[in-house]
This record gives sequence, structure tokens and C-alpha cells, in this order.
Amino acid sequence: MQGRVISRTPAGSFPGRVGRGFTLIELLVVVAIIALLLAVLLPALARAREQAKQAACGVNTHQMALALSMYTVDNNYYPGHHLTFGRGDILWPVRLMRYTKKQHRTFWCPSAPPDTYWNGVDRIVHSVTSAGPDEFGSFAYGYNDWGVRETYAFDPPMLNLGLGGHINHPIDGEVKVDRVKRPSEMIAIADNESDGMWDTALDPYEEYEAPGDRHHKGANVVFCDSHAKWYLKDRLIERKIGMRQRWNNDFEAHEDLWLDGGPIP
Ligand SMILES: [Zn+2]
Repeated sequence: MQGRVISRTPAGSFPGRVGRGFTLIELLVVVAIIALLLAVLLPALARAREQAKQAACGVNTHQMALALSMYTVDNNYYPGHHLTFGRGDILWPVRLMRYTKKQHRTFWCPSAPPDTYWNGVDRIVHSVTSAGPDEFGSFAYGYNDWGVRETYAFDPPMLNLGLGGHINHPIDGEVKVDRVKRPSEMIAIADNESDGMWDTALDPYEEYEAPGDRHHKGANVVFCDSHAKWYLKDRLIERKIGMRQRWNNDFEAHEDLWLDGGPIP
């Protein structure tokens, strides 16, 4: 019996294509397809990466909210922003870090510039230009020190509307817990702009102390009742009574004090 003749080609090769490579057109098509896939996938990957960073920042702000709550239970006042005298060391992160199991990473947002990463040891001062050796001038989060009133006037004394700009000042020192009328509404800490100028402080009207917009045009915000939430930056700085109330410990809007980058009164 005569069987069928089956033509065979060497393993791994194709009939009629032995020795033939890709044509230029085929290569171009492959390159174009890869470029198209990258164009579609890269923004999605970048978005996913930013979502992860925002979530990590959210964990930080929740940790800070808990630390702030524990700090006020132990001390009956808010940690304040900077020492009144001497080099004016900024102390709120140092004071809160004791309540985060000494995790200095809690005070760095992964979406912030790398130079805002604080090692938990160096002294924190108000700007990169004033920082000396072993001092630190950039920071990822700001503290609501003065509310809507950036004040240095003590004669007559004007009550601080925020959570305390000065530490150990005889007239205007740390803000007592019972001064905050609506802890669940009062802004305490938030992502900042990280421009190296008073990064550790927040103000709703000064461009270089405004909340940041690094997370989908917004910032993660810590409130005084130990919760944290994301807000659009434009909402945080809007000149409206409902939002400006949240910057002040008496939950009043103080419209007469609203400034937009103007001089300090
Ligand atoms: Zn953040």
C-alpha cells in the first residue's frame, strides 16, 4: 500500500520563508503598534501610580489625625507651629512624631518633591534659604498656625484664630483644646505647595503657604477631630464663609481679615 507523501520542513521553519527576515514595513507596523500601546497604557499607569501615592498620603494624614488627637488628650493644647524665640524651630512634626511610633515617614507625602523628605532628626526651619547644616527647610505638610489672621501684633493682643503660631510665648502661646469650637470642621494639617518657603505653615490666602494641589488638584486634609479627607485646593482657599470658618478656631469667618496675598496687617 502506498502511503500519502507528506512534505516536511525543518523544525521551526515555514515553507517558503526560509532565510527571510521582516520587511521594513512589517517592522514599522510592529513599532507603531508598540508605540500605540505605550501611549494608551502609560497615562493609565501614571494615574494608577498617583492613586497609590495619594492613598499612601491618606494613610499619613490619618496617622497625623490620630497623633494630633492623642497629643491634645495628653496636653490639653495643640502642638503649635514654631518656637517664639531662638532659631524659631518648627516643632509640630517633632511633637506629633512621638505619637506615630517615631515614624518620621508619616510626615512625607510620596507625591511631594524628594527634598521635602525629613529624616526625623534634623531641625526644621522656615525656609530652605535659611537652613544651615543639619537643618531642614522644605516640608510636605503644613499646619494651620494662624487661621485667616497672620498676626504678630501683641499690643493690644489679638487672639490667634488658628491652632497656634507661637510656642512658649507668654501672651500668644499654644492654643488650648477648648478654644476650638468645631473640631470636626477645623482644618489642622494638609498637603502643602512644597515651595521651600514656610512649607510647614498653611494659610488660605498666601500663595506660598496655600494648601497644595498635588493629588488630582487637591490636598489631603487633617481635621481636629481625628479624621482626614481629600479636598480640591480651590475649595480650600475659596473666599466663602462656609470654608473660611473652617480655618478659624472660633468657627467665625472674619471677613474683615480676608486677604489675597496682600501685606500682613
Ligand atoms: Zn499628599
